[in-house]
Amino acid sequence: MIYLIPLTGIDINLIKDVKFYVEEVYEEKVRVESSVNFPEGCFNKLRNQYNAECVIEKLPYKEGVAIYITEKDLYVEGLNFVFGLAESLYGKKGIVSIARLKESFYRKKENYNLLLLRTVKEIIHEIGHLKGLSHCSDPKCVMHFSNSLYDTDYKDYKLCEKCRKKLRK
Ligand SMILES: [Zn+2]
Ligand SMILES: [Zn+2]
Repeated sequence: MIYLIPLTGIDINLIKDVKFYVEEVYEEKVRVESSVNFPEGCFNKLRNQYNAECVIEKLPYKEGVAIYITEKDLYVEGLNFVFGLAESLYGKKGIVSIARLKESFYRKKENYNLLLLRTVKEIIHEIGHLKGLSHCSDPKCVMHFSNSLYDTDYKDYKLCEKCRKKLRK
C-alpha cells in the first residue's frame, strides 16, 4: 500500500488528484490520509528553509510506502533546495515539497494542471527510490534527477522500460 499524507496547509484535493497517476504507474492501492502537522524544530533561520532529513525523521511511519507532501521549502546539506527526499532507514518514508513547483514562486500566474503534473512526477520519483530504483539517465524517465523545474517539466510522469523491468525483479 502507498500512503499519500498531506502536511499542514496542503490542499487535499491536489493529493486526491495525484492518487490516480500513482495508481496508474505502480498498479498498487493508494490511500490519501488525513492531514498531519508539520513537525517542529527543523527550520534553518539562515537559509529560511527546512532541513528535509530532519523533517522526514520526525514524521510517523506505519507500513508500506509513506509519502508526505508539504508547502515548505526544503533543503539538504550541500544543495540549494530539494523537490523531495526519500529514506528507507526507519521505514519507507518520502517527502515532496510543492514550494518550488508552484508558478507563483517564480512570480508567474498559478496553473493548477501544471502544479498537479509536477507534484505527480516528484511523488512518483520518490516512491521509485523507496521501491529500490536509483536515478535514470533517460531524461524522459520519471526517475531522472531533476536539478531544476525545467528537468521536471521535460520528463514524463511514467517509468521508462528499463526502470519498469528493474521494479519487477
Ligand atoms: Zn531522486
Ligand atoms: Zn528510467
